[in-house]
Amino acid sequence: MQTVLFHSTIFGPVKSRRLGVSLGINLMANDGKLCSFDCLYCEAGYNAQGPGTTGVPSRRQVAHRLETRLRAMADAGEQLDVITFSGNGEPTLHPEFAGIVDDVLRLRNHFFPQAKVSVLSNATMAHRPAVARALRKVDNNILKLDSAVPATMRALNRPAATGVQPEGIIATLSAFTGQCIVQTLLTRGTTPDGKRVDNTTDAEIEALIDAYRQIRPRDIQLYTIDRPTPCATLEKIPDDELDRIRHRVAAALNP
Ligand code: SF4
Repeated sequence: MQTVLFHSTIFGPVKSRRLGVSLGINLMANDGKLCSFDCLYCEAGYNAQGPGTTGVPSRRQVAHRLETRLRAMADAGEQLDVITFSGNGEPTLHPEFAGIVDDVLRLRNHFFPQAKVSVLSNATMAHRPAVARALRKVDNNILKLDSAVPATMRALNRPAATGVQPEGIIATLSAFTGQCIVQTLLTRGTTPDGKRVDNTTDAEIEALIDAYRQIRPRDIQLYTIDRPTPCATLEKIPDDELDRIRHRVAAALNP
């Protein structure tokens, strides 16, 4: 299993397919993973590796580490398009997430006012008022919805809590009244316990279109796997198929 953990709170900058030159913020431990999902495709690996030993960084540590890095980048005349919360798990699980967002926005405004702040989240905590308020403050509130079919979400995203269902996630995303970007990773393969999983079928795409209609997001990002995944049977969806699905979704939402 070739997956990658980020071994620092601030990582990069990396060139992101979707976001440009991106400096990452990892709010989880540097030597483990903590997430409310356990996606078959997670680049950080499965949750079974454990949450690590270093603990999560405090709000003060995150602000200090980010300020140090941004100051060095600004002094060196480097470019920065976006500061992205991602890393070794779900950033909104951090108990000081809302305060950290405020710090990051303040530091962004000071050092790189033109850079965007993005959060990549699985939306499982986004129904909490403090988390939702913080997500509304960032430029790109990017929330995951891989399937609107309960069995597929359970097989692909493997939520830790049994109560997490597409219906609830769709309601949470809808509550942002368009102030969100939905990201959907398309793939197919066989789960570790031998079940077929495929979120590219006609029925899956139709269910997603219904969900997108309900959510009315600012944008929808449809993409596929690009790097090694913990579940080795997962397929990268070919470009032409991905384009067909994108056109189908666009035509359905903008007839
Ligand atoms: S939600 Fe993100 S961090 Fe969590 S398991 Fe899925 S891909 Fe990994």
